[in-house]
Amino acid sequence: MSAPLIIDAHQDLSWNMLTFGRNYTLSAAETRQREEGTITPQVNEDTLLGWPDYQRGKVAIIFSTLFAAPAHRKLGEWDQQCYASDDEAHMRYSIQMDAYDRLADEHPALFQKIEKSADLQALLAHWQREDTDEHPVGLVILMEGAEGVREPAELEDWYKRGVRIIGPAWAGTRFCGGTREPGGLTKEGYALLEHMAEFDFTLDLSHMDEKAALQALDSYPGAIIASHANALALLKETSSNRHLTDRVIQGLLERGGTIGIVPTNSFLRPNWQDAGGRASVPLDYVVGQMDYICQMAGNALHVGIGSDFDGGFGLASVPIEIDTIADLRKIIPILIQKGYTEADITAILGGNWLAHLQNTLPEVL
Ligand SMILES: [Zn+2]
Repeated sequence: MSAPLIIDAHQDLSWNMLTFGRNYTLSAAETRQREEGTITPQVNEDTLLGWPDYQRGKVAIIFSTLFAAPAHRKLGEWDQQCYASDDEAHMRYSIQMDAYDRLADEHPALFQKIEKSADLQALLAHWQREDTDEHPVGLVILMEGAEGVREPAELEDWYKRGVRIIGPAWAGTRFCGGTREPGGLTKEGYALLEHMAEFDFTLDLSHMDEKAALQALDSYPGAIIASHANALALLKETSSNRHLTDRVIQGLLERGGTIGIVPTNSFLRPNWQDAGGRASVPLDYVVGQMDYICQMAGNALHVGIGSDFDGGFGLASVPIEIDTIADLRKIIPILIQKGYTEADITAILGGNWLAHLQNTLPEVL
């Protein structure tokens, strides 16, 4: 079969660039070598990402986040990205956006921001060229934890700067309940959604508490996705609100949403460390999550990849077959074995996210 492109709906690239000085123009192998003996692999594990690996894996587009943790959930002494006020959140997210602009400006042959349909068309045309094996990777900007938006009127600025997807939660925010902090949408949360709709932002339900996610599904008129989240029903050892309940998955399916499956062990088999470590989590678990969504949907049109690689974990916490992101392609034979067709596989690896982008990116700015 022809080689389907991967679109990955979640990577915290700028957070890594600013926190650890990671340089994603380098291969994962080279970054690992450079970081040997530093604190980085101790607190964020060995990297799984790098431009040469994107090329090998045919990772054409990445939903690239603006992300910082609120001070009450500071990740460690080394975490310099966290924020203690709305102003500080705005500053952090703003600096992260600058980092993407710099990356694309300094390495236009390697990384390009995707803000409108024409950007997407140009990028896809490049990936179809057969006279070269080197293609630019497209960056669609996703704001994770929306506290960089101090007031709804600022959404226009963020839109102009290239943000296309917003997830209101990480931890709980002033907008809604989030991971480990249950709760529904607040008044400010409803106001945020109302203004997001004016600009056709995509709403990302990942990290939203079930109550907030269901309220958002009922009230947000625009496109809704879960960029990086797995089905709770398959995770017997946890009841964490980080994962998607069947009600939320059903709501997403009814709204035509796509769900990006996260291939990290604790999201695939929560007791994996006691069960035998990495060897106890083969890639079949990733395909199992994908299959669960497909069975619920009755088709393969609502699931994709949202790796979250380097987002607080790395090599030590992913399925045994994965050395870098390029190895995500190893799910292809497993999908074939399960009876998925070539069209299904193309959709799952990137086609569903591509359709989402084609449906939501503006024609003109
Ligand atoms: Zn996240």
